[in-house]
Amino acid sequence: MPPSAVPATPRAGRGLSLTRRFALISLTGTAVLGVALVAATSQALDDQALAHDVATAEAVAGWTTSVVPLDAYGTGLLDPDAAGEVTAVIDQVDPRLLGVRLWTADGTLLLDTTGGTATGAPIGFADTARLDAAVLRGVPAPEVLTQVEVLGVGHTAVAGTSVAATSAAGAGAGGATPPGGVSTDPVMDVYVPVTYSGQLVGAAEVMLDHTPTAATQATAVRTLGLVAGGGLLLLWLVLYRTVHTASDRLQRSAMDNARMALLDALTGLPNRRMLLDRLDRAVAAARLDRHGVGILLLDIDRFKDINDSLGHDRGDELLVQVAERLMDTFRGRDLVARLGGDEFAVLLPGLASVADAERLAHRARAVFTAPFRLGEMNVHVATSIGVAALPEHADDASDLMRKADVAMYTAKQHRLGVAVYDLADDDSSPARLVLQAELHRALTRPGELSMHYQPKIDLVTGATVGLEALMRWQHPTRGAVEPSTFIPLAEQSGLIDDLTQFALRTVTRQLSRWASDERLPVAVNLSGHAVASTEIVDTITRLLLEHDVGPEWLEVEITETVLVTDPGRVVPVLQRLVDAGIRVAIDDFGIGSTSISQLRDLPVETLKIDRLFIEDLRTDADARRAASVVKAMVDLAHSFGMQVIAEGVEDGRTAATLLSLDVDQAQGFWYSHAVPAAEAVGQRGPVRT
Ligand code: C2E
Ligand code: CA
Ligand code: CA
Repeated sequence: MPPSAVPATPRAGRGLSLTRRFALISLTGTAVLGVALVAATSQALDDQALAHDVATAEAVAGWTTSVVPLDAYGTGLLDPDAAGEVTAVIDQVDPRLLGVRLWTADGTLLLDTTGGTATGAPIGFADTARLDAAVLRGVPAPEVLTQVEVLGVGHTAVAGTSVAATSAAGAGAGGATPPGGVSTDPVMDVYVPVTYSGQLVGAAEVMLDHTPTAATQATAVRTLGLVAGGGLLLLWLVLYRTVHTASDRLQRSAMDNARMALLDALTGLPNRRMLLDRLDRAVAAARLDRHGVGILLLDIDRFKDINDSLGHDRGDELLVQVAERLMDTFRGRDLVARLGGDEFAVLLPGLASVADAERLAHRARAVFTAPFRLGEMNVHVATSIGVAALPEHADDASDLMRKADVAMYTAKQHRLGVAVYDLADDDSSPARLVLQAELHRALTRPGELSMHYQPKIDLVTGATVGLEALMRWQHPTRGAVEPSTFIPLAEQSGLIDDLTQFALRTVTRQLSRWASDERLPVAVNLSGHAVASTEIVDTITRLLLEHDVGPEWLEVEITETVLVTDPGRVVPVLQRLVDAGIRVAIDDFGIGSTSISQLRDLPVETLKIDRLFIEDLRTDADARRAASVVKAMVDLAHSFGMQVIAEGVEDGRTAATLLSLDVDQAQGFWYSHAVPAAEAVGQRGPVRT
């Protein structure tokens, strides 16, 4: 069995889905971005605050130079008056100013307005690195000092760090930190160069309370963090949603594509691939549970005609309606599929018997009883259904499909509506090959093949006015084999020419045997193969000559289907037959698609209306419609000078109807079956008037 043709359903990749991976990566990225943004902004705020504090410190330092004389930097001594003046004013300058210390260039403390306690700066000692920066290079050196451990007055040690390196410091401003505690209040400590007339002489160490700045900065950073974080989160959510929806849509369209590969675009039914896959599974399951599997193959009759005459759109409409009706009829386990064109299939898993499958096939056929509404028209459509079942007819899926196809072909060819697979129909089955060989042998053995004759009745007079020769095969062991079985077999194997020869020879010989007063014109059926070449004309004229029979006694019947399949080759042959005095009838008329113009130009004397239309007269619920169809054909034929025969007349009522419809002749079981030559001419008078 071939592996399943169905592609694996798209499975989510192992591990993280696309959306989740995106969420993880984008969330990390957004977080890093947020942190970087906050860090950069807080750095900028820091720099700004520092610049501001340095400017304040420089202003304070500039102010001290106006009070402290230059020589104090030289001697390292400051007189108490000047020191007092500085201290007194300091408090009024800036509430943030904690104190000022003045240092000489060599690091001697000139003045300390803090009294050594309130600033966090090291007591009595300068920060030499920053002092040097101010004194030697003339640049302000700021630093934020924090966490100064106060050991006691005069004995402190640094325990913490700040933005820059720190050193020992005193207690917090205003005695906020008691001796022995830990001050965490930050202090901005700036060494500002002191210059007199452009000469660097020392440094002013300005100490500013850093707490409000730090607090403002912290608030700013917090606010920024919240705003940036919130904004980024919002942005991320939008992004996530977009990606999520897009990925969703992608996935859905992938699913759609996968489904499309298994569904028929026009009807939405499962397609051939899906049917074959389900069939494979049903067959596998059947092997386990010992059930059968059935297949119904449906082919719409004359779909091509509908397509050609009403247009492809109407054809499509019809297919959609057929699909809908079939879907309504078969539910549950049964699967209705469209195989392409006008072919449908129904898979019947878990089948109990072939009879069940056949019953369901008839149910499928009943789907076509009601006319289809195509645009403004009600169109009657029929179907041919082939039935095959496993294990009765096949033992695997592909064989089952093939057998259903053979059955469908049989149903179509013999217009059976429903046909269950039969070995005898199967071209390639061994049984069929055997039957072929036996038919070949029958041609050489006298008695197996014979011609029977069915009378044609003049509907007005009731007299038998002609006969149709129908071949019979009496098989030595099988009994009577139906022409509907062996004629198609012969047509496919090339034996048909021999059968035609046999029929013509037998009939002409029979005509010559009948006494002239019991002789009737006889119609012989000719296959499509026979009328494809003019050889048949020579054969017939030679046989007529041989048996001394006039051509007026012979008629040939060719089916309308043969005629429309290859009119270019067939019509000249018919013309030559007519020229030779042999009459031609069109058999099975009405089921083909001869156009009116074609009909007018044909050298044909008689139209035989197909049995189906005659059957309709009897069975169609709408008898008036059926009658008007027949009447239309009759009028058409008469207008072209042809006469009309109805075949398949099985009851008197139909015969009466046909008479009322102006049909000329009738043929059917109501009058007589096909009988051997001896019985055919016994009764010349009116039959069943
Ligand atoms: P056909 O040419 O349409 O022949 C009429 C068929 O309808 C015959 O079937 C006949 O027995 C059957 N029939 C006659 N009256 C009635 C009726 O009232 N009701 C029903 N249901 N059927 C009726 P048969 O003899 O089985 O032949 C079937 C077909 O085989 C013929 O259809 C014809 O196409 C073909 N055939 C028969 N003999 C020959 C032959 O010698 N040569 C060729 N080429 N084909 C033949
Ligand atoms: Ca016929
Ligand atoms: Ca016929």
